[in-house]
Amino acid sequence: MENIRNFSIIAHIDHGKSTLSDRLIQTTDIVSDRDFQDQILDSMDIERERGITIKSQTVCLPYTAKDGQTYFLNLIDTPGHVDFSYEVSRALASCEGALLLVDASQGVEAQTLANLYLALEHDLEIIPVINKIDLPSADIERVKNQIEDDLGLDPETAILVSAKEGTGIEDVLEGVVTHLPPPVGDTEAPLKALIFDSHYDPFRGTVVHFRVYQGKIKAGDSICFMSNNATYKVEEVGIFQIVRVPQKTLSAGQVGYMIAGIKTVSDTRCGDTITLKKQKCDTPMPGFMETKPVVFSSIYPVASDGYEDLVTALEKLKLNDASLIYEKDTSAALGFGFRCGFLGLLHLEVVQERLEREYDLSLILTAPSVQYEIVLNDGSLLIIDNPALYPDPTMISLTKEPFIRAAIIIPDHYMGAVMKLCLDRRGINRNYQYLTNNRLEMIFELPLAEVVYDFYDKLKSVTQGYGSFDYEIIDYRETDLVKLDILINGERVDALSQLVHRDRSVERARHACEKLREEIPRQMFKIAIQGAIGGKIIARKTVSPFRKDVTAKCYGGDISRKRKLLEKQRKGKKRMKMVGKIMIPQSAFLSVLKTD
Ligand code: GDP
Ligand code: MG
Repeated sequence: MENIRNFSIIAHIDHGKSTLSDRLIQTTDIVSDRDFQDQILDSMDIERERGITIKSQTVCLPYTAKDGQTYFLNLIDTPGHVDFSYEVSRALASCEGALLLVDASQGVEAQTLANLYLALEHDLEIIPVINKIDLPSADIERVKNQIEDDLGLDPETAILVSAKEGTGIEDVLEGVVTHLPPPVGDTEAPLKALIFDSHYDPFRGTVVHFRVYQGKIKAGDSICFMSNNATYKVEEVGIFQIVRVPQKTLSAGQVGYMIAGIKTVSDTRCGDTITLKKQKCDTPMPGFMETKPVVFSSIYPVASDGYEDLVTALEKLKLNDASLIYEKDTSAALGFGFRCGFLGLLHLEVVQERLEREYDLSLILTAPSVQYEIVLNDGSLLIIDNPALYPDPTMISLTKEPFIRAAIIIPDHYMGAVMKLCLDRRGINRNYQYLTNNRLEMIFELPLAEVVYDFYDKLKSVTQGYGSFDYEIIDYRETDLVKLDILINGERVDALSQLVHRDRSVERARHACEKLREEIPRQMFKIAIQGAIGGKIIARKTVSPFRKDVTAKCYGGDISRKRKLLEKQRKGKKRMKMVGKIMIPQSAFLSVLKTD
């Protein structure tokens, strides 16, 4: 155990966590350069393109230190986005220390702080690392000051690194060995291991990632999950070295995986404790919590014969993503689909992108909604996330919506712009403080519903990319909710209905009508688009009739060009949905959700 170190890298997004991880892996030689692809830890395409880590992966790095001894450094990768903060907290609970990475040109940001607090809650030893020192805009002195003033860490212990160019990597590995404590734990006590992640392998079933706190685990053991008493027989245990390397046993202090004939990742729960069936440990690991989805949306295939494909795709995706939940849903306008729950808006976008890209589906998503608590006149409580289930307003006595506490860090000259954005979103400014002489941390309480509606994009645009943001849900508060319906030629399109705050309803209705007017192509008849609450029309736009003859342009032109144009038009149609007699493009459903 003396020669084990368990650690994570924590950072604000884009500060170089994946790049540094890859460097550490490369330096310790567990993969040949030929096999080495960029950013090994972020293995999914979408992650690579968006530069975010969704599924964390762990790797055990053998490292011979300057003291001549060989150490096993377990680098536990954490998801890099606020939507996945519970998973981050379980990964951190599996470590003794963390590298806190700060971009030398950007400095400390909202998620740097949020992640540091999380790490401190778990009593982790922290090593500050300043990355990207190769950049001309790097300002090491400024970042050192922030490390001292904002983070309360000793700036002299900071390691200077360029993950990109490979400078300082040896110092990081030595720092991990000398500054982080080895794990402690009784190898003879009954097994106690913490699940911090799991993934699905098509050949072996669920692969559970865990940290052993006490005792041992080996193939053949009968184990038990303490949250639900489910038991399994262990088929294989081992460690991660990019590929899985089976081991005879894993004991206290070690990090690794287990395969035990578990069919889907939903049968395992992040944060749960593994023990032996016959010899249970007395208490589970603290902090177990079931993650609950907070944002909901319905997903429909654009083509009506696409339903079966969607079913298959969701089943497959679910194997690997325990936090995705879904159930059947139907819409008069869009047919059969699914109501899905997500951890946040980013999670929603990632799922949508994976379904479209990996399973080649063309989808329509309805407006994301949060969960509302509705108390009816007879005193009963109704929890809804779907506008379709909104009750008759005369039966409602009280409605509550979830609120978040948002921490936003900005250069101070954006204060006015951010204040306006948050107040426009029904926010309450609770506090602000200067972190350094021109950087400001602003604390707002905001309705979650206003944040799922493109808040993050807006924050980035009003602060020219400098604003950073982190949030947590704090409570439910009374609200004045209405259901906004959209009528097209007098018919309500259920998939376009939204639950909105009364004060924002007219604005939202006008916006939706305007967007639909822009998106719906002219057709041979006039199309009226209306926004309504109850029976009352509060906004109206019209698409005037037009006969679109694309081939007219090709008069006298050659035939192949004409054919190409027709083909193009046909392709475009695939992304259209017939609603009654009217063609509505897929993009129209999305455009309703975006401001501007
Ligand atoms: P993550 O979001 O924290 O995982 O960040 P990534 O590792 O994906 O890096 C974000 C961006 O910063 C990428 O474009 C990297 O190439 C770049 N980057 C990472 N480390 C360095 C560095 O040391 N120097 C420079 N110039 N760029 C870096
Ligand atoms: Mg990354």
